[in-house]
Amino acid sequence: MTTAMAVTERAALLGRELAGEFPDARGRYGAFGGRYVPETVVPALDRLEAGVKRWLRDPAFVAELDDQLGTWVGRPTPLTYAAALSRRWGAEVYLKREDLAHTGAHKINNAIGQALLAKRLGAKRIVAETGAGQHGVACAAACARLGLPCTVYMGAIDCERQAPNVGRMKLLGTTVVPVTGGDQTLRAAIDEAMRDWVADPTDTYYLLGSVVGPHPYPYLVRELQSVIGREARAQMIRQVGGLPAAVFACVGGGSNSIGMFHPFIADAGVKLLGIEAGGRGLALGENSATLSLGSPGVLQGSYSMLLQDADGQIQETHSVSAGLDYPGVGPEHALLQQAGRVAYEYATDDEALAALAECAEAEGILLALETAHAFAGARRFAASNAGSRLLICSSGRGDKDMPTLQKTLLREKP
Ligand SMILES: *Cc1c(COP(=O)(O)O)cnc(C)c1O
Repeated sequence: MTTAMAVTERAALLGRELAGEFPDARGRYGAFGGRYVPETVVPALDRLEAGVKRWLRDPAFVAELDDQLGTWVGRPTPLTYAAALSRRWGAEVYLKREDLAHTGAHKINNAIGQALLAKRLGAKRIVAETGAGQHGVACAAACARLGLPCTVYMGAIDCERQAPNVGRMKLLGTTVVPVTGGDQTLRAAIDEAMRDWVADPTDTYYLLGSVVGPHPYPYLVRELQSVIGREARAQMIRQVGGLPAAVFACVGGGSNSIGMFHPFIADAGVKLLGIEAGGRGLALGENSATLSLGSPGVLQGSYSMLLQDADGQIQETHSVSAGLDYPGVGPEHALLQQAGRVAYEYATDDEALAALAECAEAEGILLALETAHAFAGARRFAASNAGSRLLICSSGRGDKDMPTLQKTLLREKP
């Protein structure tokens, strides 16, 4: 459908995106987004939308958020010149270091922002879902910091696969509820968290982890994560003296990438590339490359691109990185793809592992496996664009991936 769209239509969509018209009054990004939820959920979403409008630009709220970001999260995160990767790739490579943010990834920007919002809205407790456990840990830390009780729903299979993160959440004072229904992974956990929230939407706040779900979540999370791109853009100008030729970020649900890209969308000379998980191959079920290989449909409250079969059944996905292993993606990415402003490509499991190994060896930075996909994409770009200035969102650190790395890279290098 992307290629079928006329050039003028694409330009019109991009114009509306640049004019800040999305999300529109119905929570849509062009054809995408919206609210595909049971009627019982609508009042809670309406209340949240009103709260977002009331507080997100309120000077006292902004000051409180900035204080938490500056004194607790560790912002601004540095911009690092990657000298050795630059030499190897024949490019000029800069890294935005979200791996240095508290709890080891960008997810904390969203967790602390929404937890502060929940307090303003008078919530007494937080519920959240988590897949690999990274968002759960960020929520648990933010809730401990602000004195809010927190319950995290996590698929029973994921609890087993990600046992260290279950322990981290418990130490941070969070109640972890293993979900034994459904697929026993992230999708079932989201359903349970949603159910808990809707049972008491006044006292409970649902803290969603990426730019997915029904309106206003994709907008709220984008606004909280855009601090990444705002800082990086200013750092490029101040430290380097100009904007990059291309910006790279990995795409799971799409929060670190939209946070990085959004402040660059109006910079027509800056190419934006989102790198998805190509997994083991192109067949349905072997990857998580939703924008590259999927088709439009509804998942968890939003109309966006999806990995589904010909009957519209959502497919199991695969990626070596747990954080990219999701069959959906945020609706604004679907729009940006359609408008031709962001190019979406994918890197395979093997390419991501190779990029992780190279960055560790060359720069002394152990990347998260999710993040390594962005590096693999940047490396490929450098090979056909010699000498160009590249900016990569280093979304997280790789300590959490040691069990996977022991089974993969370290088996080959005893
Ligand atoms: C969760 C995670 C991702 C994927 O989530 P997005 O919403 O697409 O950003 C990417 N990198 C790291 C380090 C993560 O923890």
